[in-house]
Amino acid sequence: MTNEQQALVVLSGGQDSTTCLYWAIDRFGIENVTTITFDYGQRHRVELECAARVAAYAGVPNTCLPIDTFAALGGDALTDSEIAVESGSSPANGLPNTFVPGRNLIFLTFAAAFAYQRDIGNLVTGVAQTDYSGYPDCREETIGALQQALRLGMESDVVIHTPLMKQSKKQTVEMMRDLGGLDAMALTHTCYNGARPPCGECPACVLRARGFTEAGVSDPLLAPR
Ligand SMILES: [Zn+2]
Repeated sequence: MTNEQQALVVLSGGQDSTTCLYWAIDRFGIENVTTITFDYGQRHRVELECAARVAAYAGVPNTCLPIDTFAALGGDALTDSEIAVESGSSPANGLPNTFVPGRNLIFLTFAAAFAYQRDIGNLVTGVAQTDYSGYPDCREETIGALQQALRLGMESDVVIHTPLMKQSKKQTVEMMRDLGGLDAMALTHTCYNGARPPCGECPACVLRARGFTEAGVSDPLLAPR
């Protein structure tokens, strides 16, 4: 039996996973929450720094696990610096070239193994099927099937929580405001071009800006310091 009070948040250092962290702290209590970040060879190393800073700011532990296989697989713009980030979808499969095949499945499988060893019964991930990118590994159906596979494969009763699954970016901003975690947003990273301050032009920056505007909240990341 796993501990139903403990939760492990997959923290990327971005807006969504940071919101999930605050959701988990609210739901499980800060003493029961820990975070895991994957170093998968992402071009934007700043993400790892952001994840560590967000966790420290929130007052929870953070473990960074290296998975350096994705870059060797090649072909996606998030790990291969030779490939420019494109905003459009590929005509071949309808997916943008920022899609890293299997990424969330692998992250959650490693997270489940990490949680298993520590008797942590809950995993929290910021995937959303409303995400403009339409990554198939963010869908509710995919996550449900993975949860089932993990339960069978690890003989555990692990639960995967996806608090943002059906939330728009506007609703995600509102959720963070209601959880009192807006200040932590200043430490997050969203820009696909890895720019800080953010470029404001890439699809990720545009989507983030739209969410804040629609929620009527100013983005703490853009506040003058
Ligand atoms: Zn950007």
